Amino acid sequence: MSKLEKVYDSEEFRKSGHALVDMLADDLKANLDRTNEKVIDFIDPDQNYQNWSDRSFADPVEYFKAVMENSIKLQHPRYIGHQVSAPAPLAVLAGFEGLMLNSGGAIYEMSAASSTLEKVLIDRLKPYFGLDEGDGIVTSGGTLSNLTALICARNVKASEDVWNVGQKEKYAFMVSEEAHYCIDRAVRVMGWGDAGVIKIPVDNQYTMRVDLLGDYYHKAQRDGIKVLGVVGSAPTTSTGIYDDLLAIGSFCREKDLWFHIDAAHGGPAVFSEKYKHLMDGCHLADSITVDAHKMMMTPSLTTMLFFAESHNSYRTFAQKAQYLWSAGDEEWFNYGKRTMECTKIMLSVRLYALIAIYGMEIFDEYLTKCYDMGRRFGELLKADEHFELAVLPQSNIVCFRVKGENKEQTNQNNINIRRALLEDGRFYIVQTVLKELVYLRVSIMNPFTEEKDLNELIATIKRIIAFG
Ligand SMILES: *Cc1c(COP(=O)(O)O)cnc(C)c1O
Repeated sequence: MSKLEKVYDSEEFRKSGHALVDMLADDLKANLDRTNEKVIDFIDPDQNYQNWSDRSFADPVEYFKAVMENSIKLQHPRYIGHQVSAPAPLAVLAGFEGLMLNSGGAIYEMSAASSTLEKVLIDRLKPYFGLDEGDGIVTSGGTLSNLTALICARNVKASEDVWNVGQKEKYAFMVSEEAHYCIDRAVRVMGWGDAGVIKIPVDNQYTMRVDLLGDYYHKAQRDGIKVLGVVGSAPTTSTGIYDDLLAIGSFCREKDLWFHIDAAHGGPAVFSEKYKHLMDGCHLADSITVDAHKMMMTPSLTTMLFFAESHNSYRTFAQKAQYLWSAGDEEWFNYGKRTMECTKIMLSVRLYALIAIYGMEIFDEYLTKCYDMGRRFGELLKADEHFELAVLPQSNIVCFRVKGENKEQTNQNNINIRRALLEDGRFYIVQTVLKELVYLRVSIMNPFTEEKDLNELIATIKRIIAFG
């Protein structure tokens, strides 16, 4: 057999494929049973580089195993760090099928299943956001989705044809100072610089001070900057608290501004009977970003961008003035016209697999469980004299810190605790800075994280404090 014949040999594929699934299934079980003691085996990056550089592998399974052993375990209930899902095995399998078929993409002929399911998915989910008349796309990540939405907003709201001719005027979006950094980045990619992103201060709940929007809007006007829209966070990444979407939406209606909601993390609250009220006002949005790889159990990256007006979904990358296009030019099935990507991974099939097999209720169950547990963790911390919360949690994101007298020293203590936890490896949590104070930060992404895990984390932190 030639080397190329070996590469494409179906029996080789079958054999290593089965072995890979067996290995991952065993690991999944060991994670959920907590018999895998460590969530992360942290290795210094330069050391890790050395380890990989000199390594050779006898067969594919040995290679797969090495990759797995060097990877943080997102399926472990004590992984409570960044907001990345513990992907549902079914969604992973659908993604795996998609990788082999490799037919996602710009034009329908190349992507019949994935393009059609993209539309089925968007049409199925948009009513939950109150965007019944809308449309949308599936794209590679919240960062790209937010950029896509803001470019569209510029095309729709700017007073000149920026897409085709460039711009003479100055523009800006208004956004909370706690918004995800990718909004700031998107504005800079659009060439607007510092002045293009007007940061609105937050209140003591870390939500946007909507009462200040008018002042900032008028100040921008006086400075010769045209505000095109406002971006609301649902919720902010750092604290997990939702902006007042209803109030921001009303302001945007009144001033004829684009209202984009960055609901990358918490958009799926709309599927939860208990928590959908957090998204109240989302029907006023012009566009909404929702990551399925955060709170919808789908592998990274799988993101939906909804537009309230279906026509707008075609206006981001319009190569010629869209109003010249006949309705017939709006071919829903050739997604390349509407997405930043040309060739695209088969994204929709992964998320749709969960709906096709388990039904929509699964998203309610999942999100409600994670949010409940976040709030419960907040209660446990509040009741403990060693800790203080940044804010009472509204979702599955919890920011807390070990108390102390001296500001600098307390910040350093919390940094040291986080570092000690990383090196210990039995939990994975992260940290953030809010109003110059360092906080430990937890996101409960795994529906099998239980109160006993969180109590064990609290006990572990106390042991670290006691023994320095
Ligand atoms: C995670 C997140 C993003 C970035 O999304 P990616 O999918 O990681 O690109 C943007 N905004 C918010 C609010 C987020 O939580």
